[in-house]
Amino acid sequence: MTKLNNFPNLPNDENVIGIIGGGQLGKMIALSASKAGYKTHLFCPIGDNPAEAVVDRITHGQWDDYNKLVEFSNEVFCATSEFENIPSKSLELLSKKTNVVPSSLVFRCAQIRSKEKEMAIKSGFDTPKWFLIKNTDDLISSFKQITNEGILKTNSLGYDGKGQLKIDKNSNFFESLENLGSVECVLEEKLEFKREISLMYFKSLDGSEGFFPLSENYHENGILKKTVAPACLNSNIEIELKTKAKKLAQNLNLYGVLAIELFELLDGRFVFNEIAPRPHNSFHWTLNGCNISQFDILVRTICGLPVKDVECNGKWEMTNLIGQDVNNNNVYKDQNFILHIYGKKHLKAGRKMGHYNRKVS
Ligand code: ADP
Ligand code: MG
Repeated sequence: MTKLNNFPNLPNDENVIGIIGGGQLGKMIALSASKAGYKTHLFCPIGDNPAEAVVDRITHGQWDDYNKLVEFSNEVFCATSEFENIPSKSLELLSKKTNVVPSSLVFRCAQIRSKEKEMAIKSGFDTPKWFLIKNTDDLISSFKQITNEGILKTNSLGYDGKGQLKIDKNSNFFESLENLGSVECVLEEKLEFKREISLMYFKSLDGSEGFFPLSENYHENGILKKTVAPACLNSNIEIELKTKAKKLAQNLNLYGVLAIELFELLDGRFVFNEIAPRPHNSFHWTLNGCNISQFDILVRTICGLPVKDVECNGKWEMTNLIGQDVNNNNVYKDQNFILHIYGKKHLKAGRKMGHYNRKVS
């Protein structure tokens, strides 16, 4: 129920922002909302939820607890999800009661790899060669059509490299599918790329829009390790990518923020990887590198405040603290390493525990 004529929503005791998901993104959204004078209400299941430390109210409930979701939606004037895999049915239900930004339709598209690829192609992006895989026969026939190795990804519910397997001609295709839970998958050609780039577009409910400068990303084991920004890019290519990104956002009727991950191939072509309709790890550098962060911008967009392109102050590097990295003394020694520690109670290998931003020039 997006009411386009009722903006901006200024901060007051009634204009409470609903945040769905209690992770670090929820925490950083809540901090930005609070800075801008908005109260926040968090919805998440009971667990290790760093956002709980900084919100005004909490409703604990499972993602599909419809009674709790209705209760929550009655308390907020809008809601945004930091959790990409929120069942789209739950978002649909919330949409009947409150403004959900980005919408349930956008989340549905982002949750299903085949759908987001189709939408990207419709918007003018190239994708890696890909095939929808429902069974071993599909996998055998599709694998014949790719040149090198492939990556088999579950069609939904993947994150941080989870739900993915590399496969080559020696793989046991039946076992590979079984290892991924025998669910619907996509097979993609494994690309050799120069670097990974991400883009962030945003659009306010008042209709204004903009981009952050682009990020250049380095992954280890499928998890983002480091971002350098702004990424150096030929200005014509940058304009072309932004035009396609806007088209994609238009096709999704997007309000809020939209991150787009891309690969730059060895021959300089750019290929679409995936979208995320929420703040993105590769834009955490904006917390210190820009005069307004991705979390501040998300708050402005969902409240219908005007937005425009964001500029940055110099060159920045964001480094994720993954697992034990957060206990490395060296990270804490230099005050130029601007720390953002999420406050998760349980440290696990591969878990994002915090990050630091550092100005490099
Ligand atoms: P997730 O949802 O886990 O972020 P991605 O599809 O973005 O899943 O994959 C995680 C990482 O794996 C990417 O950032 C990239 O480094 C690598 N990767 C994914 N797909 C491909 C591909 N087709 N070719 C080469 N590398 C890939
Ligand atoms: Mg990704």
